[in-house]
Amino acid sequence: MKIYNTLQKENVQVNSIDDNQIKIYSCGPTVYDEVHLGNLATFIYTDTLARAFRLNGYNVIHVMNITDIDDKTIRKSKSEYPNLKPIEALERTTRKYEKLFFDDLKKVNIHKNNYHIIRATESIDLIKSLINQIIKSGIAYIADDGIYFSIEKYIEAGNKYGVLSNLPLNHRDVKHRIDNDEYDKDTIEDFVLWKKQKESEPAWDYKINNINIKGRPGWHIECSAMSINKLGQPFDIHTGGIDLIFPHHENEIAQNKSINGLNLANYWLHTNHLLVDGKKISKSLGNGIGLAEIIELGYYPTSFRLLVLQSHYSNQSLFNYEILSDAQTSLSNLVRDFSWIYSVVNYKNSGIDIKNIITNAKKSISLAMDENLNTPSAISKLFEVSAIIGSMKSCDELEFNEIESFAEYIERLLGLKIIYKIILDKNQLELIRERQSNRVHEKWLLADNIRDELLTMDVGLRDTEDATYWYPII
Ligand SMILES: [Zn+2]
Repeated sequence: MKIYNTLQKENVQVNSIDDNQIKIYSCGPTVYDEVHLGNLATFIYTDTLARAFRLNGYNVIHVMNITDIDDKTIRKSKSEYPNLKPIEALERTTRKYEKLFFDDLKKVNIHKNNYHIIRATESIDLIKSLINQIIKSGIAYIADDGIYFSIEKYIEAGNKYGVLSNLPLNHRDVKHRIDNDEYDKDTIEDFVLWKKQKESEPAWDYKINNINIKGRPGWHIECSAMSINKLGQPFDIHTGGIDLIFPHHENEIAQNKSINGLNLANYWLHTNHLLVDGKKISKSLGNGIGLAEIIELGYYPTSFRLLVLQSHYSNQSLFNYEILSDAQTSLSNLVRDFSWIYSVVNYKNSGIDIKNIITNAKKSISLAMDENLNTPSAISKLFEVSAIIGSMKSCDELEFNEIESFAEYIERLLGLKIIYKIILDKNQLELIRERQSNRVHEKWLLADNIRDELLTMDVGLRDTEDATYWYPII
């Protein structure tokens, strides 16, 4: 498979370190609030990447971290639980949002079981050991407010800082250091590895040089420690939103390189922004729509998954309710076009070479996915096949099997369920028989009334010359 490697600025073939195994690290959420649709889009793309590798026969080891200690989680926990001990407040707040995050993932068909999930607060010893190694290499220094990474020492040791973002080094501010987890987009400064405890902040002991620098890790070192713990260094693919390129990913690379001179990951995949009504999602703009809001309005989470996959991960994708409605309609049509096969009673060959059509479609879809995860192209192929299946007047058992297994392939690859079996009850079957009789006697109004009645039960009907088929309305 080829992907766009931010490190090389081009599409390159992924050659995994171990045969038949791909090790992926995805920067997970900071659990201080509900994740917005932009975050979710990133996770949908990354999940689809892993699915594509799995279908290509790879064993995928996919690690995702949970940032449950940083500036934002501390601020939020203080405001939510001002009377609790800082560490307890932090745990309450972060566990709550972590649960909401996993609930959202499940709704868009991202299965937690496919991931190794690691929390930062449970990796403190790992983080400290990594900082120890950076200090040993002479690149970190201890200041009165914590432990910092020296960009100057890093460069003096023969390294290049800024390999992903290509930031010019004249943007360096050599006089200052920064203890914020997120900082100016284009100023390179020494950044914090370990922050000395400020009043009433959660903190852990850290004994070094016979002193105890009680405090907590900086954000960047968390990912450096959690990724290599499970995946080794280097591993194959590191993913995240493009916002993370600088400073987060540059700093991750620098931290890991300073301990052993090795790259952190061979490939860096970054997903572009989801624009809501043409604007980047941000808290300050107040446009941070979450999954709960669209569900409340009657949209399916998987309609959002389809909307996301209809854009390429490296382009900006657009979100508004019109586009979401279109995606929902497309999803319903897919279900209509595929699910009718479960209502076939008399199997009869369709006269369409569906086996061949599906074989070729799978080839095209697989090629599209291998060419830098071209999900829009894969989905347009799916729509083509869907229209053909939806126009079939009958199917035999072999065709049935082909269609069903193609739908299952799509679900495994794209995380979209497009085929549903519904069992009608006696009353519903009777209504269909009654309608058929009305149609034979050209009582169209009565027939239409029955169709409408079944629609209220979420049963759709499809008529051909010889048969009436049904499918679930989703
Ligand atoms: Zn990260």
